[in-house]
Amino acid sequence: MTKVDVCVIGSGLVGASTANALVRQGAGRVLLLDRGNAGGGDSALTFGMVRRHYTNPVLIQLSMAGTEILAHWDEEVGVGSGAYVPTGYLLPVPERLVDACRANVERQQGFGLDTHLLTPSEIHDVEPLLSLEGVAAAAYEPAGGVCDSRLMIDSWLLDALGRGLELRQHAPVSEITFNGDRATGVRLADGERIEAGQVVVATGGWSPEVLAGIWEVPFNLVRIQVAVLRLPPGQVAPAAVTSDAVSNVVVRAAAGRDIWVVAYQADTPIISVRDDCQLPLLDGYENAIRRPLAERFPSLAHAPLVGGWGGAYDATPDWHPLVGEVPGTENLWICAGWSGHGLKSTPAIGRVMASLVTGQTPTIDVADLAPDRFARGFENPCAYGPGARA
Ligand SMILES: Cc1cc2nc3c(=O)[nH]c(=O)nc-3n(C[C@H](O)[C@H](O)[C@H](O)COP(=O)(O)OP(=O)(O)OC[C@H]3O[C@@H](n4cnc5c(N)ncnc54)[C@H](O)[C@@H]3O)c2cc1C
Repeated sequence: MTKVDVCVIGSGLVGASTANALVRQGAGRVLLLDRGNAGGGDSALTFGMVRRHYTNPVLIQLSMAGTEILAHWDEEVGVGSGAYVPTGYLLPVPERLVDACRANVERQQGFGLDTHLLTPSEIHDVEPLLSLEGVAAAAYEPAGGVCDSRLMIDSWLLDALGRGLELRQHAPVSEITFNGDRATGVRLADGERIEAGQVVVATGGWSPEVLAGIWEVPFNLVRIQVAVLRLPPGQVAPAAVTSDAVSNVVVRAAAGRDIWVVAYQADTPIISVRDDCQLPLLDGYENAIRRPLAERFPSLAHAPLVGGWGGAYDATPDWHPLVGEVPGTENLWICAGWSGHGLKSTPAIGRVMASLVTGQTPTIDVADLAPDRFARGFENPCAYGPGARA
């Protein structure tokens, strides 16, 4: 029987970062399992946005620490790249959200983040393509931008494999095994039993199936779609990544002449199991992006749709992740439920998870993300209400 010190289930951004940090922290024999190709889950589908604009200290700190690692990838990881590009990040808000936005910006400044509340004329200087209709102010982070999740995962894995990580792809876990409340390992779908001192569940939207009968994972799967539009030759693309809290459209420039567009829809479909989430755009999504795009970026609104994809947000009731021991168990950990905004925090959360699993105190206090918080009646507040902006 295979016997390891730590078994990490799921090799998306969370699992790959955690496995990398575990081997670097000398956690012993570390095995990373994925039911498919490494990085083939929702981490392959991200919009790529990097921002630190959050309400709560824990997410401000995780996203700041994660972005620092992205910005200094050579020193921090040493292999590959996160392809981080600081394009700037803009969050335009309507009058009713100005006070909440200002309070967020001041809180982030308190952690040393370079961020400011811009007036409409200052917004125009940063992003001349933006129509200012209905916009009262905007939060701006010069070092917000984009990064590449697939490169991040490949780089972490290459580095960790060189340090002794064992990776098995196409190795679905069918069961977590226990002695009483203490997790003792996993069983694979082909019947193989793996004994592990600690087990980490990093299975994103699939976590309810992985933890079935052990703990009811408190999240809904919310479908989210990214449309790809192609600008005509000579048309100027947006400079900053913009997440518009007025029209609820999110826009970034991508490779070539493409722009990626997301519309946060009030009637977003809830999916019952992750495998039911289709990859192609659903009928009607083009209509959903055209109106808000015309409102905020009139010059981009008629660019033809050339592609797109859909994925799932694993959205908890307070849109904050579940990080810590699985309630009612020992030696079993979860890091999931990132609610659609985990990307830039994953370089930091991997290190936090490695510290927790090896019994050390993490450099960032993640107590407010404890998986049992809803059962205790605690929810993290979100300045703009529950949603992926958190
Ligand atoms: C369309 C979209 C756009 C997004 N855009 C952004 C963005 O711009 N910025 C941002 O910060 N965040 C964004 N996110 C969120 C971000 O992508 C996620 O928070 C992050 O990818 C979650 O990573 P994960 O490792 O938890 O999950 P996943 O990447 O889904 O990894 C889970 C892994 O577990 C594996 N697995 C499942 N079941 C089993 C099993 N039984 N046995 C073994 N392995 C198993 C899966 O195969 C998968 O590889 C976006 C998400 C989506 C869907």
